[in-house]
Amino acid sequence: MSLLDALKKAPIVSGNRTIIIGGGISGLAVAWELTRRGREVVLLERRDVLGGLARSAPLNGKPLEVYYHFICGGDRHLVELVRELGLADRLYWRPGRTSYFIRGRLYPFTTPLDLLRFSPLSLTGRLRFGLHALRCRRMTDWRRLEHLSAEQWLIDSVGRQAYEVVWQPLLEVKFGRHHDKISAPWIWHRIHRYSQSRSTLLRPEQLGYLEGGSHTLLTALQQGITAQGGVIRTGVEAFSLDCSGQRIEGLETSSGYYEADTIVAAVPLPELVRLLPEDSEYGRTLSQVQFTSVGCVRLALRHSLTDSFWVNVNAPDVAFNGFIEYSNLNPWCEYGGSDVLYVPFYFDSSDERNEWPDSRFIESAIQGLRLIQPEFAQGWVEEAMLSRDRYGQAICPPGFGERVPALRAPTEGLYLLDSTQLYPADRNLSGMIRLARSVGQMVAGGQ
Ligand SMILES: Cc1cc2nc3c(=O)[nH]c(=O)nc-3n(C[C@H](O)[C@H](O)[C@H](O)COP(=O)(O)OP(=O)(O)OC[C@H]3O[C@@H](n4cnc5c(N)ncnc54)[C@H](O)[C@@H]3O)c2cc1C
Repeated sequence: MSLLDALKKAPIVSGNRTIIIGGGISGLAVAWELTRRGREVVLLERRDVLGGLARSAPLNGKPLEVYYHFICGGDRHLVELVRELGLADRLYWRPGRTSYFIRGRLYPFTTPLDLLRFSPLSLTGRLRFGLHALRCRRMTDWRRLEHLSAEQWLIDSVGRQAYEVVWQPLLEVKFGRHHDKISAPWIWHRIHRYSQSRSTLLRPEQLGYLEGGSHTLLTALQQGITAQGGVIRTGVEAFSLDCSGQRIEGLETSSGYYEADTIVAAVPLPELVRLLPEDSEYGRTLSQVQFTSVGCVRLALRHSLTDSFWVNVNAPDVAFNGFIEYSNLNPWCEYGGSDVLYVPFYFDSSDERNEWPDSRFIESAIQGLRLIQPEFAQGWVEEAMLSRDRYGQAICPPGFGERVPALRAPTEGLYLLDSTQLYPADRNLSGMIRLARSVGQMVAGGQ
């Protein structure tokens, strides 16, 4: 008898429950939707904590997300869920100021007036940059851009100088050496999404945050799912899908075999590929999508560094392309006592930074911040930590729209949720909640 047959004889869970793999926002949102509809679900999460990329780690004794999260004006599905969970009075909106560090100084970069005064660009460059942002706000038909690269489209639209000074560093923040291979619709959507956060052109973007950060949302979801009869198991890793007869029959995990006729894989695509049979044609197709890893330094500081929430950095001697002074949006210091600042690094599988110890990222972050703000001293740092995730950001080259996988896999009973399905939108919590609701409806409706 094979090991799988032996495990099948003593399943941990039997019957036609839905198994959800992954306890990030997608897995939790689909579990919420299904339990709301009276379905029995079991959610399995490999880590000991829920949340995935939105997970938290303690700071000053309170949980705070390991990666910064903010909410944009158009994030309707997130705001709806927040209301549904009774958290509306914990959602706040504030101006999200942006600055630019270039040629040794910080320039405000929030309002149209800031743009007009932004001397690193020629006057023509500033005007073209502003007009392009306006066009992106109005534009909705992105398909005609599908085969253009962001680099080509932006150079044609704003000129080479504005591209090299403003856009290239922003693309480098996320995609490192792949910055010139990103599709035009991806960058269009990012500009479009941010513009939804401005009520009028002259006002700064209003960005949202939850008191207590993403942890508040994740905890309410966890409690809601459990109250509705769902089962959540952390510290359980899915090993392989049992789909011998072209339909889902179960799942092998670190804690035994789970019988299931429906499985929702709410995990990054490469993790799903690992769960599929080795000779799977579907797995081969999915594995063509490449990802960059993320490593993000979270600093708790005694003093604030700037008055901006987001600072873009274009300086050859600084090892990162931007930082996020989170307390300037979410005044964590009001209840935690510290100023919170994040410095993200993105790199691919061939990058030497995969081998860096945590301390090296932290040193690079601190060195760079000292170049930006000379008063910054080691004594300002109360706590420094690094978080890493192997699949931080999918790389979306031109034509990516044709590669986006459907919510339903070819194997009967298997559904998937991954940020690439938001394309041309960037990964975001609100979009994943929307997709999770759709999958919940499909599963509950037997579609
Ligand atoms: C630095 C950074 C900043 C961000 N900022 C924002 C922001 O400001 N606003 C915004 O809306 N979004 C932001 N995002 C994006 C947002 O965090 C993601 O879109 C979202 O969290 C993805 O959720 P998910 O559940 O789809 O995937 P994930 O969060 O990746 O969750 C997948 C889960 O599956 C688990 N898992 C994987 N394999 C297995 C297995 N075999 N068995 C069991 N469990 C498994 C993982 O441990 C993980 O918990 C940011 C992301 C990063 C990295």
